Formats: sequence, C-alpha cells, structure tokens
Amino acid sequence: MTKIPLVDLHAQYVSIKDSIDTAIREVIDSAAFIGGTCVREFEQAYAADYGVKHCVSVANGTDALYIALRMLGLGAGDEVITSAHSWISTSETISQSGARPVFVDVDEYYTLDADLIEAAITPRTRAIIPVHLYGQPAEMTSILAIAAKHDLLIIEDCAQAHYATWQGRRVGTLGVVATFSFYPGKNLGAYGDAGAIVTNDGELATRMRMYANHGSLRKHDHRIEGINSRLDALQAAVLGAKLPHIHAWTRARQQVASWYDEALRDVRGVQIPRVRQGATHVWHLYVVQVADRDAVAARLGARGIQTAVHYPVPLPLLAAYRRLNARAEQFPAAAANAKRILSLPIYPELTRAQVHYIAECLAQDVALTS
Ligand SMILES: *Cc1c(COP(=O)(O)O)cnc(C)c1O
Repeated sequence: MTKIPLVDLHAQYVSIKDSIDTAIREVIDSAAFIGGTCVREFEQAYAADYGVKHCVSVANGTDALYIALRMLGLGAGDEVITSAHSWISTSETISQSGARPVFVDVDEYYTLDADLIEAAITPRTRAIIPVHLYGQPAEMTSILAIAAKHDLLIIEDCAQAHYATWQGRRVGTLGVVATFSFYPGKNLGAYGDAGAIVTNDGELATRMRMYANHGSLRKHDHRIEGINSRLDALQAAVLGAKLPHIHAWTRARQQVASWYDEALRDVRGVQIPRVRQGATHVWHLYVVQVADRDAVAARLGARGIQTAVHYPVPLPLLAAYRRLNARAEQFPAAAANAKRILSLPIYPELTRAQVHYIAECLAQDVALTS
C-alpha cells in the first residue's frame, strides 16, 4: 500500500538538502543563534522578494498578530472583526490585546463574507482581520472599501497565503500591516516555529521590532516594556535557503490543485474548491466537501491516505468562546462547512500519479458511504 501523507516535509528537505545543511552548519559555526546577520538577511530578502518596505521577523505567526494588534494601539474597549472560520490564533490574539473579537460568517470561498461585515460594525470597531484561508485571498476590494468608509485598520492574516494575489496585488500589501507564519507545514516553512510581520509603515515597523525584543532596539535601551518574540538564526537560515524556491513550489502546488480539479470535477458527491474571480490561489490546502466526511476520511486513512479537517469547529462555537453565547445559526456557512470539509494531501512534490490515486480512492469511498 502506498502511504501518502497530508504534507511531506522530508521530500522537500531531500530536494534541497545541501543548501539547508550548509545554512544550518554556518549558523552553528558562527555561534550567533539569536539575531545576527542571518536574521537580518532573511528579513531583507523576504521584504525585497515580497515587495514591501519592512519585514519584522518574530517567533511565530501568532505572536506576529499579537504584536501587530498591540503596536497599532488596539486594546480594551475596542472590537476587531474577523472570520468565524480560521485557526484560533486569529481571534485569541485579539482577546490577548485586550480587544474583543467579533466574528463574521464566511462566503463560499471560506473567507470573510464582505456582505456581512457592515452589520457587525459598532462605534467600538477599530479593525478587521481578513484571513486568506487555505491560500485564497478574501474579497479585498469590498473589505478595503468598508474599512475606508468606517475608518478601520486592516490587518491581513497571511499565514496560509504567502504570495497569493488579489487583482494582481499580493496579499499582505493591501492593509496597514500583515502577518505570516513560517510554521513547518506552511507554504514557506521553517524547521520550528517562526513568523514575520510586513508593513510599508516605517514607524510601525520600528515599534513592532522594539516590542518583539523586550522594548529595545539597542541592548539595554528599553523604551517600553515588550515581549521576547524573536526569530532565531537557525530558523532564519532555513528560511533563507528555502526562499529562492518559493515561487517554483507555489507553481507546483497550483499544478497539484489543477490535477485534483480535473480528476474530481465530475465526481458525484465531491465538491471541489471554488476559486474567486480575480484571485490567485496558492493552495496551502486543497479542501473538498463531502457528506459523511468522517467516514470518508476513515476509509481514506485505512488506505494510507492521510487527510485532515481545517477546522472541525467554527471559532465562535469553540469552548474557548463560550462567553460569547454564539449559536451555529448565527454562522450558517461556517457551521455547515465544518461538517463537510476535508483537506486532501497537497505539497509541491506530490506527483500526478499520486493525485490520481487519491482522487480515485476518494471517488470510491464517497460512493461507498452515500
Ligand atoms: C498557522 C496560522 C497562524 C499562526 O501561526 P503560528 O506560526 O502557528 O503561530 C495564524 N493564522 C492562521 C490562519 C494560521 O493558519
């Protein structure tokens, strides 16, 4: 039986082993494990390649959100609108900043439903965090217009969407600030926790850099109280070695997605992902919908095909948000999707033959469970 994992990080390592090994060895030889040239070089390379003025590297994508929220001055008494369908980092950091998360349901592309945002705006609303979930941009034209009309800040959560574009512009360059995760399985992944914040606002970048490093830019010059959230040099070295490959990897993911589309388009009982007009999708995840999802997932698992659910419970319905007294009926799309979504294996090294095998197994398993 061929085993196919959801993501194969080893296959990627093998493909660039020499450059990774060299980069790691150089950090160990230099003994500069925190800060240093490796970290600065990666920040500069990422900012330059991404087309933004500033990149502030941090310890992970969750801290990136928290630091951005805090340094934008969000806190007690403020409300921040975000998607009911995301990873909990998006909303837990809103609460940690002292502000209140206000959840809005998703559209048929799994991103913030722009048509529902205005109804959620109150005099306390200060910001919106659109999440470009699974690698697909949210409908940013409407979201930016709403933000402009109501004088709201836009913080883009780009953890799953490195280099995705909306009407020709990269996500992460559309709002005041954007956050990235380099968690190992993300489209650009380190070998541990890692993250970054990008912005074109130099003053904000400096404040965020200071806050992430105990409130200081120079040793012992603590202008404010901060936190310790730094990218370490080993992670920066790995990211620096991987960065030259990101565009080829993105194209490979897009190829994998088109093979899936082709193989699954006409399969009864399988709904393939929709791609929004005007968006380029970078396919962090390839998510289908099926009835009786858990049974289908179990059958695929028994054949050695690993799948996952991102995510099984909409954020407002998690136990962590019991205080909000949210009901599933308030988030009908997110609640319905949560029961049907299934993430299939996707990574740049996945072959056409593997995709066809997975699609064939999925078609059989869906037929068996219906
Ligand atoms: C992964 C992820 C994060 C958090 O990133 P970490 O590096 O794991 O802290 C935030 N938002 C979304 C949508 C994510 O997928």
